[in-house]
Amino acid sequence: MKTGTFTEFRNNGMMPLMITSSLPTEEHRRVWTRGEIRSIWRELLTKPAAKAKAHAEPDTVISGRRSSVTITITAEHDISIGGHIILFLPEFWGGIAQERDATTFFLWRSPNTYPGYVSSHISAHSEGDSVIEGTITSAGSVHVVADIAILDKPLRAGTPLHFVIGDTCGQGVLPIDFDGTYHFNVAVDAAGDGQYAAILPHPTVRVVGGTPERYRVTVPACSTEKTLPLRATAVDASLNHTDVDGTTKIIAHEQNTHRCVTVINETSGIAGKSNPSVRGVWADGNNVYFGEIHTHTELSDAIRSTDDAYRFARDTLGLDFAALSDHFEKHQPSMVYPADRKWDMTRDAASRFNEPGRFVTLLGYEWGGVPHINIYYRGADGKCFPADGETSKSPPGLYRMLNDEHTPYIAIPHHPKYLAAADWNIANGEHQRLVEIYSGWGSSEEGNDSAYRSSLAHGVRMGIIAGTDCHIGRPGQGNRTFEGGGLACVLAPSLTRENIFDALFARRCYGTTGTRMLIDFRVNGAIMGSETPFAKENIVSVRAIGEDMIERVDIVKNGTVVYSASPNRDEVSMEWKDIGGKASYYVRITQRDGHVGWSSPVWTCD
Ligand SMILES: [Zn+2]
Ligand SMILES: [Zn+2]
Repeated sequence: MKTGTFTEFRNNGMMPLMITSSLPTEEHRRVWTRGEIRSIWRELLTKPAAKAKAHAEPDTVISGRRSSVTITITAEHDISIGGHIILFLPEFWGGIAQERDATTFFLWRSPNTYPGYVSSHISAHSEGDSVIEGTITSAGSVHVVADIAILDKPLRAGTPLHFVIGDTCGQGVLPIDFDGTYHFNVAVDAAGDGQYAAILPHPTVRVVGGTPERYRVTVPACSTEKTLPLRATAVDASLNHTDVDGTTKIIAHEQNTHRCVTVINETSGIAGKSNPSVRGVWADGNNVYFGEIHTHTELSDAIRSTDDAYRFARDTLGLDFAALSDHFEKHQPSMVYPADRKWDMTRDAASRFNEPGRFVTLLGYEWGGVPHINIYYRGADGKCFPADGETSKSPPGLYRMLNDEHTPYIAIPHHPKYLAAADWNIANGEHQRLVEIYSGWGSSEEGNDSAYRSSLAHGVRMGIIAGTDCHIGRPGQGNRTFEGGGLACVLAPSLTRENIFDALFARRCYGTTGTRMLIDFRVNGAIMGSETPFAKENIVSVRAIGEDMIERVDIVKNGTVVYSASPNRDEVSMEWKDIGGKASYYVRITQRDGHVGWSSPVWTCD
């Protein structure tokens, strides 16, 4: 047995690759970059499947606990000498495994000295007498492909071949942290001529929640009920729902204008505190609804299913609304579903989860051109125009196609400051009503010509929301560690899809870094998002309730901070008078815990 005969590091842009192989020469050594594996899978899902089966054992593992998963493949025909089988792991699957003196055919041990890589371990062996060697291409645990070659004897029909992911002697590897059903991609090149066929259905493993750590508690932001209706879910360290026994106690905290609750499990000791809730309505007869509309799933370049994503938003985070925003460009295919099913699946999931009054969805997608723009529809239907479509390669082309459909939509560019700079001169004022000012990429408020404040300087009138751009199928969860990915906060009279859409379109909304802060921002009495006549004196007023103490309030006029205050209270109600005239104003509010909220502006006009 030869172990790690060949190792090479390859600079591959954002994801440097480590290639290890037990094959001594380049013959049979097949290396797969992330782009290559995704494009071959896009093709394979439209071609006849291999005459072979694959399954995973065990079919369920627990988040946060090391485990070993074996993928067993059995073909109905021989796999000849020079034949190959590839296994592509779900993204983010992997963790730290101890090395062992295995009796298997190859090992991959990543050096702990290589930044960004964790040690992992995959081996393969057959129950026959074929010699199997292979190559692993990996970008940490984000991208791992094992490609094995059959060397001196064919692998006979019906002979099981096993890929073992993780050490079976007890250490194992950490599965993905997030609960859900994960698909392993397996394909076979039986003749060794480079023509792979997918083994379908995919072997799957379900990840379930681990040890309960606390409660996630949410209450409506506005309520007239005597007893606040609350949602409490026990979660583990990775925000997975998990069951907990015992009796619970609920403590209500009453303040002047608002209240919140703490839920304590008296048996296990776990607890959780809710967001603040005001009695009655909040601003101009509107309630506040919290949602997140920038999330990717396994329908494009992320993980977890559409249903896992919506359930997480509704049941775990207790969000009021959510939308998925997958990519539909060819280079962002699903590893599970053929391209021609993706949009139907997106529409279907949005329709099934839309329940006015309880949880609302929007139909949408991400247009991945320059800059990135998300499109959302007011209704249950609409067309999808990706950035590699003949007629929708640029924002003007995209908007032409959308406008020709006469289906109400809103366009929201995101992270304008990063990656793909925004050109505010081609802003589509009629439909491009908002900017996602904050997400997992950070804040795009200021810093360069593409940042939000620069749009104000160009006279573009866009309001503000925040989102996550998460690639873990979890609306509202920004990344692996920061629970509070950005939120979109909407002022609407009641919870229906149309009301949420209309409030976004009216810019009657604000964004936060994840906190459920309440903000009412006005100029001359006009609510955020408005265009209102200027007065002799423009009167700027701010009302806010934080989830933590409000440390700082900044009024931003025409893109510059013109007034700041340090109230150091949970609740703020203040007024600031400016000289009259045409201007844009918004407020940025910073809590003691570092969370930030940004109102949409009010524009004073002639
Ligand atoms: Zn994007
Ligand atoms: Zn995105």
